[in-house]
Amino acid sequence: MDTNHGMIFDIQSHSIHDGPGSRTTVFMSGCSLSCQWCANPESWQAREKVLFSELRCEAKQGCRRCIEACPRRAISIAERVIAINRADCQSCHALTCIEACLSRALKKCGEYYTADALLQRLQHDRDFWGSTGGVTFSGGEPLVQHHFVENMLHRCRSIGIHTAIETTAYAREEIFMAVMRHVDFAFIDVKHMDYQAHHHYTGVGNGLILNNIRELVKSGWPGRLVLRVPIIAGVNDGDKNMRALATFMEHAGVYEVNLLPFHRLGESKWQQLGKIYPAREWHAPDTTKLSSLETFFTQQRLLCYVGSDTPF
Ligand code: SF4
Ligand code: SF4
Repeated sequence: MDTNHGMIFDIQSHSIHDGPGSRTTVFMSGCSLSCQWCANPESWQAREKVLFSELRCEAKQGCRRCIEACPRRAISIAERVIAINRADCQSCHALTCIEACLSRALKKCGEYYTADALLQRLQHDRDFWGSTGGVTFSGGEPLVQHHFVENMLHRCRSIGIHTAIETTAYAREEIFMAVMRHVDFAFIDVKHMDYQAHHHYTGVGNGLILNNIRELVKSGWPGRLVLRVPIIAGVNDGDKNMRALATFMEHAGVYEVNLLPFHRLGESKWQQLGKIYPAREWHAPDTTKLSSLETFFTQQRLLCYVGSDTPF
């Protein structure tokens, strides 16, 4: 992966919750965080990988095609259920198991694109964007493949495409700022204001993230910035955390926040990767709590949007 080659795990046309208007969202592979509630755990590593759906698998009916097709003997069966030894799959480019699986229980995740090919793909959607839409780079974490993303944002902008990014801002300041130069609209995730709690739930501290947000605003960056917070009951919806966020926003000069109630839509993907989903017992705060948070931020003279019904 370099300026001209990027690994992408999905491209979605007609996205209406990833920035202004109708957009095409490019989901970049690779992430520096490992949030316990992640809805896209298949994005964590910037490489091709195999997703396995037990529901589709016909091993119980006697199918063994993938076991025979794997050159590394990474697939085994116990009590008529397929198991993939993920360590043996590392850096496998053969992916012969996927080709062998006729029921599509095995699926490839991650595709290499050249910058030219991606631009061509994006241009196909141009008619659907209208005057307000454009392209959003999401992930995973787009800053992991920053050379490629910076190049793409620059090329999009140079032909008049509106650019947006959804990022954790977890990158060295010079990398972050270099990418943001080419961005018109940004969502930056702030998952927790407490350093230790942030580290506990995401695998990294929040120092770099908060510093990058401050520096971005201080630099006079002309784009629109909205902070995004996944709201999880008992994890980050407490008064202390919300007060700290409002204070940070006021001091940093950020005035818009989007609270996204937690959902479990990513749970099946954890299973397909053979991982245990840590957020099984978690839930979103109830509507009364969400309304009280909205009122709280509004009283702090901050624009607060709850959920995905937003003006962007
Ligand atoms: S990805 Fe490669 S090593 Fe892993 S099961 Fe498939 S063929 Fe075997
Ligand atoms: S080839 Fe597909 S359907 Fe057959 S056992 Fe393997 S995963 Fe299951």
